[in-house]
Amino acid sequence: MDKPHGTFHIEEKPLPEVKPGQILVKQERTGVCGTCVHMYHGRLPGIKYPIILGHEIVGTIDTLGDGVKADLMGEPIKEGDRVYVLPGLRCGKCYFCSVLGAPNLCTEGGAYGVKPLSDDPLYFTGGYGDYVYLDHPWSKVLKINADPDTAVLLEPFSIGIHALDRVWVKTGSVVAIQGAGAIGLFTLVAARESGAFKTIVLGAPASRLELAKEFGADVTINIEEVPDASQRIELVKSETPGGYGADVVFECAGVPTAVPEGIDMLRRGGTYVVAGHFTDVGEISINPFTHLNNKHITLVGVWGGILPYFVKGKPILESGKYPFKEMVSHILPLDRIGDAMKAISTDYRLDGKEVRKIVIASDL
Ligand SMILES: [Zn+2]
Ligand SMILES: [Zn+2]
Repeated sequence: MDKPHGTFHIEEKPLPEVKPGQILVKQERTGVCGTCVHMYHGRLPGIKYPIILGHEIVGTIDTLGDGVKADLMGEPIKEGDRVYVLPGLRCGKCYFCSVLGAPNLCTEGGAYGVKPLSDDPLYFTGGYGDYVYLDHPWSKVLKINADPDTAVLLEPFSIGIHALDRVWVKTGSVVAIQGAGAIGLFTLVAARESGAFKTIVLGAPASRLELAKEFGADVTINIEEVPDASQRIELVKSETPGGYGADVVFECAGVPTAVPEGIDMLRRGGTYVVAGHFTDVGEISINPFTHLNNKHITLVGVWGGILPYFVKGKPILESGKYPFKEMVSHILPLDRIGDAMKAISTDYRLDGKEVRKIVIASDL
């Protein structure tokens, strides 16, 4: 895409010569993510245009450079194998990578489809193309044994797992999740796998809540049917032991007003996780006494995905334990990315169907 709010152009370029240590991946599916839509609108700071977007990439190995023999788990890889591209490029040397062990906060890093580190013209640097060229020494892939429509979901799933890893969901906990979009549903799966006894998902429309039920949500609350926040808070509390409130609440809605509402759904001493704000959509006031001090809560933020969560998420995706593929509502050819961006920016409808997750396929 050429500039914020610009247009997507398809250009033909000769494939790069694959150098030692590098990998050329033939894209099979690339997920269209909320972050891509924010970049489309120019709402993510520090992004250089023109850019090839797309960071949720699964494909097959087209060409392996000399010396590349295994994926990041040490599994042997060969041409033709299906692999997930770990989009993040982390330096391993900066203060955050090396001292704090927090590579998601790397000061030197970038990501395919977000901040490519290549100096060359930016061809093959994102998933919205037929090929992705992993030319950076920090590139990593993970062999994946799932169909491409399921496998493509590994990156957003890793965000849900990361959100859970930031807190301790003790066995038997009641967990509430604000938002029934992809991040909400992936957080739901991660919460169930982490020991939540009861999960409550708040969101809309009804069809998304149905999907949440298929993913194992015990209780769903339709925010269109219950537009009053105080009523929603009471409904959540009524599902918790003693009516005190949830042990952990995850904000996966990307709406600032969800934050004070979600804190009010917590019991005293509970934990609130902001996991749905990957761009700046404004401010909201918090009362330090009632929301924080007196309530004695733990307030947690979560940024980006890192390797351990891709590794943890992969076998869960591969297991078939959850109907992940149901999340993919549209599979579109490359030349319809603009339609996808518009649908997600407006009414979440495309081709007469509600949008859940759109993926781009190179073979269409
Ligand atoms: Zn994403
Ligand atoms: Zn670093």
